[in-house]
Amino acid sequence: KVVLGIETSCDDTAAAVVDETGDVLGEAIHSQTQVHLKTGGIIPPVAQQLHREHIARIVQEALSASQVSPSELSAVATTVKPGLALSLGVGLSFSLQLVAQLRKPFIPIHHMEAHALTVRLTSAVDFPFLALLISGGHCLLALARGVSDFLLLGQSLDIAPGDMLDKVARRLSLMNHPECSAMSGGEALEHLAKQGNKLSFDLKPPMQRAKNCDFSFSGLQHVVDKLVMQKEKEEGREQGQLLSAAADIAAAVQHTVACHLARRTHRAILFCRQRDLLPQKDAVVVASGGVASNLYIRKALGVVMNATECTLLCPPPSLCTDNGIMIAWNGIERLRAGLGVLHETEGIRYEPKCPLGVDISRDVAEAA
Ligand code: ATP
Ligand code: FE
Repeated sequence: KVVLGIETSCDDTAAAVVDETGDVLGEAIHSQTQVHLKTGGIIPPVAQQLHREHIARIVQEALSASQVSPSELSAVATTVKPGLALSLGVGLSFSLQLVAQLRKPFIPIHHMEAHALTVRLTSAVDFPFLALLISGGHCLLALARGVSDFLLLGQSLDIAPGDMLDKVARRLSLMNHPECSAMSGGEALEHLAKQGNKLSFDLKPPMQRAKNCDFSFSGLQHVVDKLVMQKEKEEGREQGQLLSAAADIAAAVQHTVACHLARRTHRAILFCRQRDLLPQKDAVVVASGGVASNLYIRKALGVVMNATECTLLCPPPSLCTDNGIMIAWNGIERLRAGLGVLHETEGIRYEPKCPLGVDISRDVAEAA
């Protein structure tokens, strides 16, 4: 079995060809990050236009690199939810044309399911496992019980941690820092935090009293905004100049975010065990998404793993961020399980909003 995966849910146009053993036969990606960095955020029509310009070439490159002829494909798998409507639309209409032309089955993919299952491509991981998905657009804890069987334990009530780290990095003008110019906000903060003291500022982890597995980052972001403003006044610097307190602020923010993520994960493990949803020993926790490549955050999660005798697995960074490989792999998983493989694509739509699995976050709160 060989699947072509296509991803356009946000700002990366990506494609890959993966076989059933998990071998990546070919891949290609076009990232729009540099374009959106200039405008300070993603402008959906701009993202749509860039997807349109690049999708045919990217799919062609992935196919050529794989040396698999289109007729040999078992199916085409494409992200159809959740994501930016205009971006999803480009990938979906391209894919529907392609499967009609090739007469191949179509496998609609849930972007977060793909993030959660990626780990099974790189490690032998059986269900059930707990997944912490943390990126620029998402933040959730879900129990994976099967290829398309998820329980959503909690998610962010406002913004995602990557979004928050990006905003803080921009507020601190880290892009102007020579060492950080080509980095994402999260990477820049991690880099600068190494030179700072995390205890310089006493930032409180969000939602300390809430007995659930939900997350929140916008309150913390506002606190940091105010702190930066105050430091700018104290140091007499203009907006845009790097503060001498920048490294300390970066370290404190990173520490606080790590604490919040680790505490929620700890709570999720205890809840799942209490309900016999996870084994009492040797349970697996998977952390993925761009923010999961942060080594300080991984260390904080490691402390929870030791305390609960769980094992933390993180896909390699290139598979943590958006890519075509995870979509193709999700297609392979679905093909093997015989789930959601369509031979008839009429009525298929993209869905900008779509929770992952069954939302049991209320149960989690009541159980506490
Ligand atoms: P989606 O939410 O759909 O997956 P995305 O493009 O935001 O979309 P990713 O590409 O997975 O998701 O992740 C990008 C985010 O990860 C950015 O917000 C970036 O700042 C953050 N990030 C990347 N590296 C690090 C790091 N080392 N530490 C913290 N955050 C990081
Ligand atoms: Fe993603």
